[in-house]
Amino acid sequence: MALARAFGTALGGRSKDRQTLAEIELPLEIRIAVLPCRGGELFLRRLFEPLGYSVDALHHSLDEKFPGWGESRYWSVKLSAKKRLQEVLQHLYVLLPVLDDEKHYWVGKDEVEKLLRRGEGWLSTHPEREEITRRYLKHQHRLMREALARLTEDEDADPDEAAEVHAAEEGSLEERISLNQQRLGSVLAVLRQSGAKRVLDLGCGEGRLLAALLADSSFAEIVGVDVSPRVLEKAADRLRLEGLAPRKRERIKLLQGSLMYRDARLAGYDAAAVVEVVEHLDPPRLAAFERVLFEHARPATIAMTTPNREYNAKFETLAAGTFRHRDHRFEWTRAEFQSWAQRVASQNRYAVSFLPVGPEDAALGSPTQMAVFRRTD
Ligand code: SAH
Repeated sequence: MALARAFGTALGGRSKDRQTLAEIELPLEIRIAVLPCRGGELFLRRLFEPLGYSVDALHHSLDEKFPGWGESRYWSVKLSAKKRLQEVLQHLYVLLPVLDDEKHYWVGKDEVEKLLRRGEGWLSTHPEREEITRRYLKHQHRLMREALARLTEDEDADPDEAAEVHAAEEGSLEERISLNQQRLGSVLAVLRQSGAKRVLDLGCGEGRLLAALLADSSFAEIVGVDVSPRVLEKAADRLRLEGLAPRKRERIKLLQGSLMYRDARLAGYDAAAVVEVVEHLDPPRLAAFERVLFEHARPATIAMTTPNREYNAKFETLAAGTFRHRDHRFEWTRAEFQSWAQRVASQNRYAVSFLPVGPEDAALGSPTQMAVFRRTD
């Protein structure tokens, strides 16, 4: 591998002249001008975000002169994190070929050794460890089984140590990257992939998603809607609407309104985000919200997120049976959210699929659940 040849000593955690620099965490920024990403931006994020990187990705079209040809599988990617250089190089050594997922390439048993060596300390606890292993070993099932068995055997060997690693992991999870950011990244990726130009952020709150949408010029018209005027003022501050250049200022609008009432201003958009909002609505009024969004506004794509109640068992500070926020009217299990979403989709001619957001627990799922609705007519 070219990476190992070019950065061999750094990959081993050594520096000829500046050993102390090799041992401390540095704020690093890695820019990769052209990166093939099979699985798109969502997969890219699911690889790097659990390791604590923040990810910026820009999709290349096949030919800028002919946008109609569609998107290529190449991306420009910027990763930032505070880490030791060796750690970053080990992540890249494993994950870049995983993203490429090049099939015709012979792999031998020594690739298992390389994977385990470069993956030491992070791969066995990575939520995507299976897919990483599968792709790194070029879909060779026998090698993959061997690698996974060896990755997990340490866990079984010493339960105390496994529990310690787990606790440390939980603690650092929050430092690594906030769930908020992952949610934002996933929603943004869905909206980008949908090709939407005109987008709604329903229940936009203080406008974190709006800021990200505004920073991406492929979104030509952005509308934030919230019932709370106070929250909208905060959003206007955060976005510094007053100070924006006129061309940017024209792209964004904030509207006060309730998602319980039909609103002609919301019709005709390509996509809508409804991020951590539905659980704030009164259950008896959900039917009204369904009509407002799916019958009247009817955007082609809807990305909706809500907490997964099952995952609450992992939050130690949360008393059993309580919600994550006192303004939540309910929190759904995965089965509850999915059956609600499937009913609403089929009644309104949408197709729906579900994606986990945040670190996934084998039994409990991920902390946030996302439904992506696509209009079928
Ligand atoms: N989407 C934002 C905010 C989530 S908090 C984020 O992810 O950060 C939920 C938001 O929904 C609050 O800002 C609240 O004011 C808004 N909200 C609650 N009920 C609403 C309703 N009926 N109509 C529109 N917005 C509503």
